Amino acid sequence: MEQIPETVPVGHSLDGHTRARLGRRAAETARRLAGQDIVAVALTWVDVSGITRTKTVPVERLEHAATWGVGMSPVFDVFLLDDSITSGKHIGGPAGDLRLHPDLDRLRILAALPGWAHAPALRYAQDGGVHPLDTRALLRRETERLAEGGWSVKAAVEIEWAVSKGGGDDFVAACRGPAYGMTRISELAAYLRDVLAALKETGVAVAQLHPEYAAGQYEVSVAAEDPVGAADTAVVVRETIRAVSMEHGLAASFSPKVEADSVGNGAHVHLSLWRENAGTGPVNAMAGGDGPCGMTAAGEAFAAGILRRIPALLAVGAPAVASYLRLVPSHWAGAFACWGPENREAALRFITGAEGEQSRAANLEVKCLDGAANPYLLLAALLAAGRDGLGADLRLPEPVEVDPASLAEEERAARGIEPLPASLAEAVEAFEADAVLRDALGEAVTDTVSAVRRGEIELLDGASPEEIAAVTRWRH
Ligand code: GLU
Ligand code: MG
Repeated sequence: MEQIPETVPVGHSLDGHTRARLGRRAAETARRLAGQDIVAVALTWVDVSGITRTKTVPVERLEHAATWGVGMSPVFDVFLLDDSITSGKHIGGPAGDLRLHPDLDRLRILAALPGWAHAPALRYAQDGGVHPLDTRALLRRETERLAEGGWSVKAAVEIEWAVSKGGGDDFVAACRGPAYGMTRISELAAYLRDVLAALKETGVAVAQLHPEYAAGQYEVSVAAEDPVGAADTAVVVRETIRAVSMEHGLAASFSPKVEADSVGNGAHVHLSLWRENAGTGPVNAMAGGDGPCGMTAAGEAFAAGILRRIPALLAVGAPAVASYLRLVPSHWAGAFACWGPENREAALRFITGAEGEQSRAANLEVKCLDGAANPYLLLAALLAAGRDGLGADLRLPEPVEVDPASLAEEERAARGIEPLPASLAEAVEAFEADAVLRDALGEAVTDTVSAVRRGEIELLDGASPEEIAAVTRWRH
């Protein structure tokens, strides 16, 4: 049988031939899905505010959706987290239409939502051109730019969530056990078993699950994969956890700050840079070198590129007003712009892996990030920052091996350890001044990010931490 590539090449417009090809493939997929009792396919994309939005089609319409797309307004790109609408230079107003096309390569049956499948959407304009605000397309492009230099990246998003007894708007921890305590597993064993079983059946490779620090908080980590795959997985993991929670009469919050006075939910991003090597297969640039912690010169340059831009990256990685309630020192959120081996208080934690496993396991963990981020946009920005570091052959400063908050301010200043932006407004300022990110993300995305962030700052102006936590708690 003819092998039909399903996804349209990066940056390519849809032409008649491609549409027909996609339609044929979707018809085949729809037949297979119907045979597995799947009724509907949810096409999703993540908006600039970090919320996964969707249109769904019955399986019989999958062929049509793959060929012609499903209509959706571009205005969703300027939605704020409370569903109010702002506007930017490029987006706003009720007119216009976009077409959502299912990425059939990444279609998965959602075990936690019986009868449902999921396909991340590719967003095109009516003329078949790629929508400039399609952050997934942006990430595909960034991945390709690295590939042009002979590099690939493996990524994974760690997901923390807090489980509440279902129902009300308030957060009421669904378990009482201590941080990291086995009690918390015993209390919610059936629920957690169902989370793991559903993730496995959905095709997500879970690495581990554990109770976290805050009340009712857990974390799941998943295997690293290509950056677009990692972002798709982050979306699917969250919807799976949400659905299993509801099935058990519980509610899951992925908010950066579930309760104003507690430790928040992070969504740390793990990254490793790999050199394509025709002879041996890809080689991890984060290990086996003579740089700090065994990094190669390229691995170090990539890490330094990210470290240098952390304040600006926060506008896409810690994008909510609530993010800055989480991003405080001595909460393992990584609130200082520095790096350190296994340092949980550094924005950039370097993980070497156990001796003997480094060549596979060594990676960077960007800790200062949270689950309000659009994972596509965030990974695109991280890759762009790393790519810039590679191009400039940057070096890392001295590693930091203590909690920077424990150092006197003068010592921090002497060692060049800056506190990260303390508010979304400060992060947006850094982002707007960053030419490298603007160039990589493009003017339309950069301007829209600014517009949405400023809209949310205004929305929550004068709100107390409790009010900010309440508005954000059930949105992501
Ligand atoms: N919950 C912490 C955060 O806000 C992270 C804890 C950990 O190190 O995993 O990022
Ligand atoms: Mg954690």
